[in-house]
Amino acid sequence: MALQYLKKAPKTATSDSGETREIVQKILSEIEEGREEAARKYAIQLDKYDGNIVLTSDEIAEAKSKVSQKLQDDIRFAHDNVRRFAEAQRDSMQDFSLDLVPGLTTGQRTIPCRSVGCYVPGGRYSHVASAIMTVTTAKVAGCQYITACSPTRPGVGINPAIIYTADLCGADRILALGGVQGIASMAFGLFDCPPADILVGPGNQFVAEAKRILFGRVGIDMFAGPTDSLILADASADPMVVAADLVGQAEHGYNSPVWLVTDDEKLAQDVLKLVPALIADLPETNRLNAEAAWRDYAEVILCSSREEMAATSDNYAPEHLTVQAADLDWWLNRLQCYGSLFLGEETTVAFGDKASGPNHVLPTSGAARYTGGLSVHKYMKVVTWQRATREGARPIAEATARISRLEGMEGHARTADIRLKKYFPDTQFE
Ligand code: NAD
Repeated sequence: MALQYLKKAPKTATSDSGETREIVQKILSEIEEGREEAARKYAIQLDKYDGNIVLTSDEIAEAKSKVSQKLQDDIRFAHDNVRRFAEAQRDSMQDFSLDLVPGLTTGQRTIPCRSVGCYVPGGRYSHVASAIMTVTTAKVAGCQYITACSPTRPGVGINPAIIYTADLCGADRILALGGVQGIASMAFGLFDCPPADILVGPGNQFVAEAKRILFGRVGIDMFAGPTDSLILADASADPMVVAADLVGQAEHGYNSPVWLVTDDEKLAQDVLKLVPALIADLPETNRLNAEAAWRDYAEVILCSSREEMAATSDNYAPEHLTVQAADLDWWLNRLQCYGSLFLGEETTVAFGDKASGPNHVLPTSGAARYTGGLSVHKYMKVVTWQRATREGARPIAEATARISRLEGMEGHARTADIRLKKYFPDTQFE
């Protein structure tokens, strides 16, 4: 039996449009030309904020005083998990050296980017956890200067919990700027920040487009579209838990796809019945997001075997992948395309989003076919080196001269010849 859609999405997610590109390009150009003044202009125009842009230590202390002790404890707990996971990633990276021919030593080193710009989204929701994920990981990687920026609310500024978190995790500077003006300020080195070598962090289509346009001039973590999630569930799954997990992820945004892939029709039908009631019970903004996401982007797919379920999931290459099915080790070994995998009912995407340790900045829109999410590795440059004795250089120089001449690169060939003549005057040249 071929797979069957019990619910098919009328729309597919797209992260870019010509119109967004035009808007973002205009803002970037204006800020590059007009610098801080232009960035301030957009903060006023788009976010109705004309307060202080570079947070002072007094403002940071004041923000901390507004965060309850319980929430501070929770943020510290999440920070500790993310930090320890990132430290294990860092420690798994080994520099090495290798003698390829006698007298020729080669090697590889990993060196952290010097200056990082972390975008902490804050339009619809206050993504405290994104500050933990981006800033902590940069700090563990050993980056020298970390700037964080986040959108402001009119008359309020950045959410105090985001300020507290960015400072706790190691941001050297916090800018009260969101959207393209935040990204541009970090990339161009405005407000006395060093220009970012790499920009990281999730954001809406304007943020994603700004990073896309600036890529090349600066590094970026990944091209990010709306968040997406897929659940693989068999007859052993609890339909209420599956439905709650789908709704939890659909609340991200009106265009956030959620997909259920199952080999059990009864489970699928139960979930289809449960989801609308769970969405209707959400607070209004969240409900509107989830309703639209469920109506326009959600899919429920019935497969005939777990092998077909796994193949379907790999084709979707979801950002978040949850398995609520028997034999979790089989799934762990079989699945190949996902940003982050959540095995079993006892864990869920929200744990990873907020507090459990593995990073939540993940590839969306099928990018999990070719990349993983944000990790210490994204902040590290893998660079190589080589060193030779005169004897070690001899066979390399001879081969280099011949290959260069074959390619027509006489200047290259002569850089080899000059060494052969200097070190081995008896060399016979053809
Ligand atoms: P945001 O911080 O990305 O964007 C807010 C900014 O958008 C504002 O500061 C404003 O300046 C700018 N903006 C709004 N309308 C504009 C316009 N018309 N022109 C130019 N700029 C404009 O916050 P958001 O909008 O809530 O989006 C957050 C995104 O991040 C969501 O898509 C969410 O799913 C995603 N997210 C992803 C992950 C992940 O790991 N993949 C984690 C958290 C959040």
